[in-house]
Amino acid sequence: MANRLVSMIDTSRITTIVRDLVRIPSVNPPGEEKPVAEYLFNLLDSWGFQTRLVEKPFANRPQVLAILPGTGERPPLFLNGHMDVVPEGNPDEWVDPPFSGTLRDGRIYGRGSCDMKGGIGVALETARIIQQSGLERKGDLVLAFAVGEETGEPGTKTLLRESGYTEGFGIVLEPTGFKLGVAEKGLAWFKITLAGKPAHCSIAEQGINPIDKFLILGNAIKDYDTKIRERVHPLCGPAKCTMTILNAGTKENVVPESLALTLDRRMNPDETAEDVKHEIEQILKKLASADPEFSASLEITRLYESAEISPDHPHVGMMAREIEAVTGQTAEIWGTPYSTDVRNFINDAGIPAVTFGPGDIAQAHAFNEFIEVEDLAKGTKIILGVVENLLL
Ligand SMILES: [Zn+2]
Repeated sequence: MANRLVSMIDTSRITTIVRDLVRIPSVNPPGEEKPVAEYLFNLLDSWGFQTRLVEKPFANRPQVLAILPGTGERPPLFLNGHMDVVPEGNPDEWVDPPFSGTLRDGRIYGRGSCDMKGGIGVALETARIIQQSGLERKGDLVLAFAVGEETGEPGTKTLLRESGYTEGFGIVLEPTGFKLGVAEKGLAWFKITLAGKPAHCSIAEQGINPIDKFLILGNAIKDYDTKIRERVHPLCGPAKCTMTILNAGTKENVVPESLALTLDRRMNPDETAEDVKHEIEQILKKLASADPEFSASLEITRLYESAEISPDHPHVGMMAREIEAVTGQTAEIWGTPYSTDVRNFINDAGIPAVTFGPGDIAQAHAFNEFIEVEDLAKGTKIILGVVENLLL
């Protein structure tokens, strides 16, 4: 059966769809996914899928949910992708216009080709073949195309909730170069604000200078970073805390009234943002108890929680075998250094999921971004194998 399904892969159909998708800019920010959502809705609807535009969490940024129903004997399989792409940047840095979808030397060029309209193309081709094969599915095949991934918005999270499913298995088709991502680091940005008391510098001692307080705080954060780097995850490496933005002062001769310090905190799968916030609060408390003039507040300004499933999950082994069968190479079980919507499956919906897809992550967000057509075909072959194992 596998060979029959594989023989149905139509590389020119995938190529056409991915080029179409690249030619519809869906830049985020500001969040212009709507025309891509409408394209995908119309396509899947015309193919006879149970297709919905989900106008949540944003009414003007619809998401796409399409189901190819099964008998219900087995849990569903989700193929997930985000429709948004990052801004193209300076167009002069591009050889072809950023949204040209140019096909050259076996590559499709353009913003989003690799991250991740190529992955969406793989999901569509897989679903199309399964439907055309006429084979009975024992479980639902669910396509979930989200908004707002690039800006950490609750796109996939909302789609999963709206779908009503509480079990199954998810594949987030981000470009991993066919590595199999079972764990990923989280990311939290913290803003610490130190309060000061402004004074003219001729009588500076009558003020409270938050820059003086920062001299102590900065060292404490540096020590914290050193300490947490000893927390090494086998796939994701060390936790990290990096000071990235520092702002203070309004005028040359005035003691500043406040200081703001931003931290970029990379979290391992066994760390949560709540735990990390508590750790930083403890540092601030300690400094405040040693110095009555030390006054700090803390807020999280951006959060992508970490996530993982066991590398021993049976579907991980099955996918590794499918990857090896197609690529001829041992599948690398991977900790993704970047954040994806896989956390929405694992943490929010309680559905195990992996990050896996065609394309080199080095191409994501780069000028002259491209994806190899051959990788789209290989990716479809692998995902077809997975569908066969789980649903047929
Ligand atoms: Zn992406």
